[in-house]
Amino acid sequence: MKDQLTRRQFIRSTSAASAGVTVAASIGGIHLFAAETADKPAKLGGKPACTTKFPRWPVYDDTERNALRETLESNGWFRGNGSRVAKFEEAYAKATGAKHCLAAASGTAALSTVMGALDIGPGDEVIIPPYTFVATYNVITLNYGLPIFADVDLESFQIDPKQISATITKSTAAIMPVHIGGSPADMDAILRIGKEKNLPVIEDACQAHMAEWQGKKIGTLGLAGCFSFQASKNLNSGEGGAVLTNDDNFAETCYVFHNQGRGRQVKGYNFTYSGTRGSNLRLSEFQASILTAQMTRLEEQTKRRNENAAYLSKMLSEIPGIHPAKLYDGVTRSAFHLYMFRYDAARFNGLDRSRFLAALSAEGVPCSVGYGVMNTDEYVTGLAKNRHYLKIYGEKRMKEWLEQNKQCLQNEKLCQQAVWFTQTMLLADRSAMEQIAAAIHRISKNSAALAKA
Ligand SMILES: *Cc1c(COP(=O)(O)O)cnc(C)c1O
Repeated sequence: MKDQLTRRQFIRSTSAASAGVTVAASIGGIHLFAAETADKPAKLGGKPACTTKFPRWPVYDDTERNALRETLESNGWFRGNGSRVAKFEEAYAKATGAKHCLAAASGTAALSTVMGALDIGPGDEVIIPPYTFVATYNVITLNYGLPIFADVDLESFQIDPKQISATITKSTAAIMPVHIGGSPADMDAILRIGKEKNLPVIEDACQAHMAEWQGKKIGTLGLAGCFSFQASKNLNSGEGGAVLTNDDNFAETCYVFHNQGRGRQVKGYNFTYSGTRGSNLRLSEFQASILTAQMTRLEEQTKRRNENAAYLSKMLSEIPGIHPAKLYDGVTRSAFHLYMFRYDAARFNGLDRSRFLAALSAEGVPCSVGYGVMNTDEYVTGLAKNRHYLKIYGEKRMKEWLEQNKQCLQNEKLCQQAVWFTQTMLLADRSAMEQIAAAIHRISKNSAALAKA
């Protein structure tokens, strides 16, 4: 309602102010009245098409201030002598419909907890997509497991289930899809493979808070789902994370691992242990109190991101050479941690991606290229020289692995074409989405001149 009014006022005032200027652009049936739309690109001296000041992040008010003060003065600063971690776990489990939620120090800690609970170790292969944040990879190598890349689906940016099947061996210990950008991977196909091959499916849902697959919350579909509450994430406490699971035994094993081999009943100066390995991967009470406060805004923010992303996609799909990341039919909701699209320079008179991004930034639209090609990055290829890996897997296997890593050709293409907007941009109003579309439209119309400049 408010957005509608704002937009109408925006249109009226713009048309009045620029009397004589006709409709500058129409995208997806939506008329963009920004007077400058078809004019000179900002990069070539024109006025920026996007004048929106995108919302600040993080968002907080007295709810967080009071929560922090109350935690401080409670003297209960860790989960062993406070109640706030448990309270957050209960709230997050309820919001997601998960049977169990275990808070952790970070998304990486949540993933490490699950790796520990599954006892992933030397000789084990874990299947992951190459298009992800490096933490997905790191938690495997930290346990001397072998990360196996299954190539992505160019249209969706997500792991390609067909490629998962092709990479399974007798050493495969787990499948770890990532819901990249907060949009669900093809979970029906992935869960089917997991069931057929009797392999646990661990969801890296670190970007996918409140996303849904066929009405069920992401992170509750596999054996476990891991979330990050790091500062950039849609739900954040600076650092933080959580594991969701519906499995009672697995929940307890995770708790024990994240708490130095000490179970829920072990309190204070009682030094009894279970399992064989553990660590301290606990979330603090301060972080938990912020998370509970931040959760009061999560639903509304998720709704807004989805509405704005749908509106933006409708407009951008009309521009030749712009391909918003496809959502699978099973997606009933994305988290839109990122708004991702592919840019086809050939449809922009050969204006290459870095110059497209420079032109878009000049128009006032913050943007980036996103991930590099992880599967061939030196950070990854260097593993083949690691003395422990040579000892565990042998020179021949590590050579094979390097060759295998070169076969993610869709990922290479994706990394050359991807463009990202951040989730905070999707928290702006609808007119901001129109300005983003107008900026790209203007670059499209002037791509020949920009390519020559
Ligand atoms: C952020 C992120 C992680 C790691 O989370 P941290 O809280 O930063 O440790 C893991 N996987 C993905 C896909 C992420 O985006």
